Amino acid sequence: MLGLLLARAGVDVTVMEKHADFLRDFRGDTVHASTLRLLDELGLQNQFAELPYRLIDSVQFRVEGAQVDVDFGRLPGAHKNMALVPQWDLLEMLSTAAEAEPSFRLLRDTEVVGVIRSADRVTGVTYRDENGQTREMPAALTVACDGRSSTLRAAAGLIPHGFGSPMDVWWFRLPRRADDPPGLAGVLNAGRAAITIDRGDYYQIAYIIPKGSDAQLRAAGIGALRRNLVSMVPSLVDRVDALTSFDDVKLLDVQVNRLRRWYCDGLLCIGDAAHAMSPVGGVGINLAVADAVAAARILARPLRAGRVSTRHLLLVQLRRWVPTAILQALQRTIHANIISIAVASDDVDGENRTPPAGLKLVNRLPLLRRLAGYLVAMGPLPEHAPKYARR
Ligand SMILES: Cc1cc2nc3c(=O)[nH]c(=O)nc-3n(C[C@H](O)[C@H](O)[C@H](O)COP(=O)(O)OP(=O)(O)OC[C@H]3O[C@@H](n4cnc5c(N)ncnc54)[C@H](O)[C@@H]3O)c2cc1C
Repeated sequence: MLGLLLARAGVDVTVMEKHADFLRDFRGDTVHASTLRLLDELGLQNQFAELPYRLIDSVQFRVEGAQVDVDFGRLPGAHKNMALVPQWDLLEMLSTAAEAEPSFRLLRDTEVVGVIRSADRVTGVTYRDENGQTREMPAALTVACDGRSSTLRAAAGLIPHGFGSPMDVWWFRLPRRADDPPGLAGVLNAGRAAITIDRGDYYQIAYIIPKGSDAQLRAAGIGALRRNLVSMVPSLVDRVDALTSFDDVKLLDVQVNRLRRWYCDGLLCIGDAAHAMSPVGGVGINLAVADAVAAARILARPLRAGRVSTRHLLLVQLRRWVPTAILQALQRTIHANIISIAVASDDVDGENRTPPAGLKLVNRLPLLRRLAGYLVAMGPLPEHAPKYARR
């Protein structure tokens, strides 16, 4: 997104992606109303309409027997829903739009391995090209958008503060029939939790396990996973056998962390490289996109003039710190008050369990339900496309 916007401002941009293609199992398919509005502003609504997305206007969670609905129906603006779209399609769409700009270049199969410096300033990157050759590329500004395990962040000596997480996620697929319930649903019940994401002819399933318990739970066998899943989502009983072994189940490490300073001279971190997000609320990719938009708005002019300073990088952090801190605080509250209690429990029969009081309140008060919908779908301080990038 940042590459596209800067290229539309006439800035020379090179995006390096270590993989040869985008066809990988990404974490997260949720494109919220804030991002849908942005795609409209960028004139990409027709391209988006061609993707295999599914629109949903509410999300249902069942927590210890209580139903919680997050409702998007009262959102401001044209998009009163959330789109579930495979991330590889979205990224291909964005890179195709960016490649239409003469000053944009995407280098696939190109892994950044370090930074180059001149005195204390980062002046570019070292990278491994598609032939395995190590090369250097100088840059007026280097942006680390390489995710939670950011190589660039580490090379620049920036260390995030970790907030901990009570969970990891098992990520796998099961077949979905045309008459199955559409959209996204979550169940948290009696020490177990799972989220089913409708991807058309299959469900992407996020199955929540206690942090660090992967090896121990794998040792219990695939049958235990199948049984636990069916106990939460009984309708999967006729297809859970499609899960034949743990080779089909990927472990996703959940982290929540944040850099105190998102930049140093010559380098800026955005997205998970600046602040790794938990899957809670499905907000991480939308927040990363919003960071990119704010960065493009603040940096395009100084980049064109060849005068980017640490003051401009500070302005990006100042703009995006508040929304990030609010959403991470909400994620951590849900971790502490719902998920950590659930996954630590051995009360698997659920006899002594009651829904958390806060959730009951959300369900009773429509205003709180709408606020939850707004925070998830728009986020605090949603960003608009800069004028120069609109089509
Ligand atoms: C289990 C789980 C589920 C989640 N579910 C959701 C969800 O449903 N919705 C949501 O919005 N968020 C979700 N999130 C959060 C979301 O995944 C992140 O917040 C989001 O992906 C951050 O985007 P990013 O672009 O900063 O980083 P990433 O999406 O991690 O992208 C980083 C990119 O950089 C590339 N890269 C990495 N290192 C290098 C290198 N050295 N050189 C070149 N390229 C490199 C990678 O290949 C990748 O393409 C989830 C997180 C977890 C852990």
